[in-house]
Amino acid sequence: SANALPSTLRQPSDLFQPERENSHGLDLADENTLKTLGVALNKEASFGETVGDDVVNPADKSDVIGYIKPTAVESVGAVISKAVTGFDVWKNTPVSERATCLEKAAQSLEDDMPRLMGLIIREAGKTLANAVSEIREAVDFLRYYAAQIRREFTAENAAPLGPVVCISPWNFPLAIFLGQVSASLAAGNSVLAKPAEETPLIAQEAIRILHDAGVPAEALQLVLGGGEIGAALVADPRITGVLFTGSTEVAKLIQKQLAGRLNADGTPIPLIAETGGQNALVVDSSALSEQVVGDVLSSAFDSAGQRCSALRVLCLQNDSADRVLTMLKGAMAELRTGNPALPKTDVGPVITEEAQSGILSHIEDMRARGFSIHQSAISEECANGTFVPPTLIEIDNLSALRREVFGPVLHVVRYRREERSQLMAAINNTGYALTFGVHSRIDSTIEDLKAISDAGNIYVNRNLVGAVVGSQPFGGHGLSGTGPKAGGPLYLRRLLSRRPELGVL
Ligand code: GLU
Repeated sequence: SANALPSTLRQPSDLFQPERENSHGLDLADENTLKTLGVALNKEASFGETVGDDVVNPADKSDVIGYIKPTAVESVGAVISKAVTGFDVWKNTPVSERATCLEKAAQSLEDDMPRLMGLIIREAGKTLANAVSEIREAVDFLRYYAAQIRREFTAENAAPLGPVVCISPWNFPLAIFLGQVSASLAAGNSVLAKPAEETPLIAQEAIRILHDAGVPAEALQLVLGGGEIGAALVADPRITGVLFTGSTEVAKLIQKQLAGRLNADGTPIPLIAETGGQNALVVDSSALSEQVVGDVLSSAFDSAGQRCSALRVLCLQNDSADRVLTMLKGAMAELRTGNPALPKTDVGPVITEEAQSGILSHIEDMRARGFSIHQSAISEECANGTFVPPTLIEIDNLSALRREVFGPVLHVVRYRREERSQLMAAINNTGYALTFGVHSRIDSTIEDLKAISDAGNIYVNRNLVGAVVGSQPFGGHGLSGTGPKAGGPLYLRRLLSRRPELGVL
């Protein structure tokens, strides 16, 4: 039942949902849009610094998109000192002014969408459709948190924490990056934003946009580099909160680093972590196969499976499993894996060579263990990039899965109706609890499975990806994260100081 959920997942229905509209996207048939997009996609177009470390396109390693200057580990102390000063300025900035900065930045992102799409496609290997969604989601986060503070926050009821660190992943290099940053800024904290090493250029653009929109330079600083820089930031005793999206392993390390430290309000340093998933979809024999196939394709292979929310295990009731599998394999043959800048492409590259070899070695390992493997073809232009063909692996049992495989690999397991409770227990027992789906045309089955599932986001008769800010707050618990859910009414509260004299917040 809903009350059995951990408190981070409970969403009281009377909580205020800020009034605002979600971003509308753009018209890809518009001439100016296409022209700007074309210019940004051209190999000649360069982003970031004129010299520095290369940032390359995962779909074509000969395409150097731009250069960056990583932050020196030795300078982290000075960067944090600046954030301490920045906090004094930003926390005294009236709530409505903070909201205005975020709203202006949202508008700039929308106005600059075609150019930013070009950069996201080249830097993160996103398809055209995914690049549009990415920018829309970033805009939605900015407007959502701005609307929430306008409506709920005052200088009296919401005291910020101080300088906070945002560490974000490459799979949503703009949306998750700006989701963390905008929430932290909305709550009145100063921010040290460390984007993934693989996608610094889009982050740099986003920071520029926020500065241009009025966020003071010292209240928001970009810190570029890898795990070493992230660890140095988190280790500094002046840090008052950490927002992290990435692997469960790194989240655990951060939690260890923060353990024992207290903020001025006497409470532990808050960590908001969003991590992995071992997400399942349970399909019963009443489900509409055509719909199942469409939703499985998008859940497992969209973004080349590089979403925490992506489907990893499809569970088919044995009575209809053959039919669904035949249709699914047929549909996989139609998927086009290739250059993400082309409108006809369904599946782009995976992010790096390291990611590619990790996924391919999982597939080979599963082959060696005797599981049957079905793959779709990839197009010739894939030779210069890090691609993995969409892959389906038939397994006999959930326990065959040893780790989250972050790529276009779907595992399929068959179950008998009378084994459904054990199946659900096995899904919950993975320890992950992020997304879960059920496809059925029987109401009582849907209700039963929803009640048993431990996942943070449950989807019925639809796909498992693409949670919409404000409508589908996103996040899980257990090995999948700490909550509160991003893009939901509780998120900002975790970024406030817990002073007992404060009011309802
Ligand atoms: N919010 C995204 C979705 O619903 C997933 C975020 C992630 O991969 O971290 O698909």
